[in-house]
Amino acid sequence: MKDLMMIDRQLIQGDTPIDCSLCPRLVEFRKENQEKYPDFFNGPVPSFGDMNAELIIVGLAPGLKGANQTGRPFTGDYAGDLLYETMIKFGFARGHYLKTPDDGLNLQNVMITNAVRCVPPQNKTIASEEKNCRPFLIRQIESQPSIKLILTLGLVAHNAVLNSFNEKKSAYKFAHGALHPLSNGLHMINSYHCSRYNTNTGRLTTEMFEEVFQKITDFLKQ
Ligand code: URA
Repeated sequence: MKDLMMIDRQLIQGDTPIDCSLCPRLVEFRKENQEKYPDFFNGPVPSFGDMNAELIIVGLAPGLKGANQTGRPFTGDYAGDLLYETMIKFGFARGHYLKTPDDGLNLQNVMITNAVRCVPPQNKTIASEEKNCRPFLIRQIESQPSIKLILTLGLVAHNAVLNSFNEKKSAYKFAHGALHPLSNGLHMINSYHCSRYNTNTGRLTTEMFEEVFQKITDFLKQ
């Protein structure tokens, strides 16, 4: 595990800097976590997936004991269980999701990233952090010219994408399953976030999440 984290820390150099200091609150929280959980990844979590993907999934931010621990988006997070199982079911991932970054899971035609790359206190990002992290999201999308479709998990991701491309928010209402053509030729599809809260309260069911992945599959086949 330690060796893997070293590799991830090197990979991150070409991505968000490991010692990114743009968000004072997140840096403070990172320092606390480095003391409390010295074996955790505790840094900006890099994107994970296929650089030639047509689909990019934008989540919210790493969970404290999930992606912030493992260094891979959604890995070890409750939300990752539904996300990765659904991706395997729809052919966007091959292998087994074992909640660790060394499970060998291979993503196919999809990249996963987050609107904010560092873990926020109480799982809640603030507007300045969403803004500070936006250039990394833009760079991720722009560095992948194969991308056709952006799946946003929740409202923060939806707004992060709209702000990234200077789109008017009033023109794109968030709705589960809604497919939005963007001015730049890309499309965006919305889903409720696959968080523990949303799945426990029934706001998002497995069927509802699979319906979104069915739409994505149909869209990419066109
Ligand atoms: N883990 C992530 O990496 N992103 C989320 O949005 C939730 C959990």
